[in-house]
Amino acid sequence: MTQQKGSNLSNATNQSKNTKAMTEQQVLIAGGGHVGLSFALLLAHHGIGSTLLEKMSYPTISPSDDAKRRHYLDSRNTALSRRTVQIYQEIGLWDELQSHACRIDAVQISEQGSFGRAQLNKAEERVESFGQVMENAWLGRKLLLAAQQEPLITLIDNANVTAVAQQNDMVTLSFSRHGEKDDEQQLQGSVLVACDGRDSTVRQLLNIGTTTYDYQQTAIVGVVETDKPHEHVAIERFSPAGPLAVLPLTDPEGDGNDDYQKGYRRSVVWVCPTGEETQYLEDGAHFLATLQQAFGARAGTFIAAGRRGAYPLTRVLADKQVEGRCVIMGNAAHTLHPVAGQGFNLCMRDAHVLAQMMSRQVLKGADIGDTQLLKRYEKARQTDQKRVIRFCDAVVHGFTHPNPAVKLARNVALVAFDKLPNIKPLIANYAMGLKS
Ligand SMILES: Cc1cc2nc3c(=O)[nH]c(=O)nc-3n(C[C@H](O)[C@H](O)[C@H](O)COP(=O)(O)OP(=O)(O)OC[C@H]3O[C@@H](n4cnc5c(N)ncnc54)[C@H](O)[C@@H]3O)c2cc1C
Repeated sequence: MTQQKGSNLSNATNQSKNTKAMTEQQVLIAGGGHVGLSFALLLAHHGIGSTLLEKMSYPTISPSDDAKRRHYLDSRNTALSRRTVQIYQEIGLWDELQSHACRIDAVQISEQGSFGRAQLNKAEERVESFGQVMENAWLGRKLLLAAQQEPLITLIDNANVTAVAQQNDMVTLSFSRHGEKDDEQQLQGSVLVACDGRDSTVRQLLNIGTTTYDYQQTAIVGVVETDKPHEHVAIERFSPAGPLAVLPLTDPEGDGNDDYQKGYRRSVVWVCPTGEETQYLEDGAHFLATLQQAFGARAGTFIAAGRRGAYPLTRVLADKQVEGRCVIMGNAAHTLHPVAGQGFNLCMRDAHVLAQMMSRQVLKGADIGDTQLLKRYEKARQTDQKRVIRFCDAVVHGFTHPNPAVKLARNVALVAFDKLPNIKPLIANYAMGLKS
């Protein structure tokens, strides 16, 4: 087990952070994926210390090895909404992240073989961009590096959470190293935040049920290259083969510097019925040919594809997100369909609100694990969460329904969306995560 205590390494990111705890109260975080790490960094920004336990082993990274970070055509990517970018700006991380982020200046929505299409442009909507696309590998390494350098965060990797016990004024978390039951250890904190993913152990240990829905679809993700530059346009295309999102990416050699950006690299998320994914995973030429057929010439010619990954899609919603001194967050609270690129962005808004509420509680000298506070958080997040869940499902079901009447209705809706001046900014704001 590696225990990585925040060191004294200093960098630009660290200078803007509090280095002194505002409270003795500790937050325990189970699960150190993108949400767990981001939440720990948000807490540290407010002067709140946390101990984060991660089941997997974290790689050893140093600030200087960024150049060797990835393979050109091999990664999964996340579209970060404008609100998520604002949150990272607020905690002083965006400067570090943005060198590998690709702006989205326009969004095109269309359906193969239909007349309806809609376009959102940043100039029309008077925004700097609709969001940014970033490789998960890059986002993950930057979050991990920032957490490792943050004195208020203690990272414990190779630590599998096995039990949770709640007392009046604290919560006790038990964890063990993989396969070594005798090595069980315990930690105590004022509150436990479970960010341990879709199949959350903590959620199960707390006997919190879930409502699940199997979409019977699988998302294939990968990086492709086209002979036409992306010009910062994100394309959402609905085809008989399934919905497709093609997003602009930075060139690795350019590293965000516009002078070097050729802009031929794009991220693909393609949703197909489960069972059909094998042909696209194994046969790159078939994958490229089917993409080409779905897109026609609008993105140019698809000329190369990196290794693809497959993600079976199930919506998982926790029946409740607070139990005593424990909060369920991230995919553990709501795992959504990726077609609208909303899942992580929603988690970031949850994390931001909870960190703010805990910070106010600290300033009052009150208990950050108080159930009433946590329940107020759960209530405060309901509207945004329900809206995003409904939006994702409407996109999935509305655009995959084969009935000709439904198809006609959605094309009329797309045309109306494109023409009605009041609707576009509203939807654009929702998609950017700026309205909840
Ligand atoms: C194909 C695809 C594309 C997507 N694209 C987008 C997008 O463009 N925009 C967007 O906003 N969202 C997107 N999402 C959603 C986004 O990926 C998720 O919302 C996000 O990854 C959730 O992160 P998390 O940290 O909650 O969960 P996870 O990433 O699952 O992390 C959970 C962590 O907990 C650890 N863990 C598990 N069990 C234990 C235990 N017992 N003890 C200790 N640690 C444990 C795991 O090892 C893991 O590190 C996409 C999703 C998919 C599938």
